[in-house]
Amino acid sequence: MSQSAFECQRCSQCCHGEGGITLEAGEVPAAAALLGLSEQEFTAAYCDLKLDIYHIRVNQDGDCALLGPDGCRIHQAKPRICQRWPFFAALLRDPGAFEEAKLSCPGFRLTASHQDFLEQYRAENGEKDR
Ligand code: SF4
Ligand code: SF4
Repeated sequence: MSQSAFECQRCSQCCHGEGGITLEAGEVPAAAALLGLSEQEFTAAYCDLKLDIYHIRVNQDGDCALLGPDGCRIHQAKPRICQRWPFFAALLRDPGAFEEAKLSCPGFRLTASHQDFLEQYRAENGEKDR
């Protein structure tokens, strides 16, 4: 593989929108510690608990409540869902979903094929499943 199919441009575009970002309970301590907060302070300030799952709030302007002026405020401990993007099972399995995702995120090389994307995933992750 000569060129990456995906390389994050750190534009924070994906940190704006409908929400749907969840934190597993085990991810809370590291995220709270990064902001110098207790777990309780962190979840009270940034999360809603729905069916035992923490959902990160979205501000009135539509930004994730953890988005700061320099990007994600918990970057080193960001939720698994944010770390995994764009290597989600749906995009790995479905070339159509991959082509659609290319239009919404400037991290994709527009000329990259689905095969390039799969090769990058395998090179970075081996053959392990998502
Ligand atoms: S947790 Fe961080 S990376 Fe994830 S959506 Fe919020 S600001 Fe973006
Ligand atoms: S994943 Fe895409 S939309 Fe999100 S910050 Fe990176 S380049 Fe921007």
